[in-house]
Amino acid sequence: MEVFENHLIAPYTTINLGGEARFFCNCNSEEDLRNCVKFSKENNYRLKIIAGGSNVIFPDEGFRGVVAKIEGEDIKIIKEAKEFVLVETWAGTDWDNFVKWSIENSFSGIECMSGIPGSCGATVIQNVGAYGQEISNVINEVITFDIESGKNRIFKNEDCKFGYRTSVFKNVYKGKVIITKVVFRLSRNTIDDYSYPDLKNEITKYKEYSNFSRIEKLKFIRNAVYKIRKSKSMIYDKNDPYSISCGSFFLNPILNREEFEKFYSLAKEKKLDPPYFKVNTNYKIPAAYLIEKSGFYKGYIKNGAGISKKHSLALVNFGCSTESLLNLANDIKDKVKNEFGISLEIEPDIIK
Ligand SMILES: Cc1cc2nc3c(=O)[nH]c(=O)nc-3n(C[C@H](O)[C@H](O)[C@H](O)COP(=O)(O)OP(=O)(O)OC[C@H]3O[C@@H](n4cnc5c(N)ncnc54)[C@H](O)[C@@H]3O)c2cc1C
Repeated sequence: MEVFENHLIAPYTTINLGGEARFFCNCNSEEDLRNCVKFSKENNYRLKIIAGGSNVIFPDEGFRGVVAKIEGEDIKIIKEAKEFVLVETWAGTDWDNFVKWSIENSFSGIECMSGIPGSCGATVIQNVGAYGQEISNVINEVITFDIESGKNRIFKNEDCKFGYRTSVFKNVYKGKVIITKVVFRLSRNTIDDYSYPDLKNEITKYKEYSNFSRIEKLKFIRNAVYKIRKSKSMIYDKNDPYSISCGSFFLNPILNREEFEKFYSLAKEKKLDPPYFKVNTNYKIPAAYLIEKSGFYKGYIKNGAGISKKHSLALVNFGCSTESLLNLANDIKDKVKNEFGISLEIEPDIIK
């Protein structure tokens, strides 16, 4: 295991923010992670796990503890049945490499999540999703160890309590367990109907799609998702300034009926006709709409922190500090609250 002292964290995050970690360790195995836990306990240091660094923001002052970065790749099929396969991945495995591997092997269920940066382990934390697919639909089990007791614990899909961009790992077990492996259940024969509008549009444009073989369809979907994501700078690329972000910065608020009616009549008073999506008995409102109707716009910049020109939910580091990025986030939250009475929730993990 490599250990660095007083090591700059920013380069290990897609938003390129954060001062120095007192200790920074590259962990390629469970043993490495357990050594980090032991070292931080013995020396009374805080411990923070990161992997791809695409959904985490460290303070400008840095982190006076141990940052353990999970690295390395391992993908293995542990069960083959007629209709599905169970595939176990090491937590550090790059998510998009795994998606590519699954498509090359003609396994389906994650192709719409092509191009999401980060690791396989972290996907379960916020129930990652895109273009109509969500991790919760393909998780068989999540293998962890408890930081306090050191004991291994397996979470079955139902134990994860997945919801919209959430799971038990984002709240009850945050900082309490380390995810070491994830077992995915991928399909060998089904294929989605891909009803998400942008994606459907790409399929409709391509007449030959319906004659494609299963694997050709999966490859087409991956390419189409890449194309759509690139147009919004949602593929992380150091050379694309609009992708120096954490992806979407705010969650789309979900309102119950009473909250929705209040919001809707307020919007009508402002002569607005807000889009919304019915989710069971609740209503999901696009946060991007609220932001744009609260006086912000794509390309807005203040003190080097800005809103992407390509996507109003992505806050971008155009040469800012963590402080100015969080100031911008708070300005947006305050304005949306004042205009619509809705409190936006921040998606990435903000380390204090
Ligand atoms: C350009 C861009 C596009 C994005 N698009 C999407 C999208 O379409 N959909 C979506 O849902 N998300 C998206 N994201 C967000 C992000 O990619 C995902 O949340 C991703 O799963 C984070 O993985 P990571 O390995 O980078 O996690 P990190 O940022 O390293 O960590 C995130 C959190 O998880 C914890 N953590 C990480 N690994 C472990 C582990 N093994 N055990 C315990 N805790 C752990 C960390 O402590 C931290 O709290 C996007 C981000 C960017 C930059």
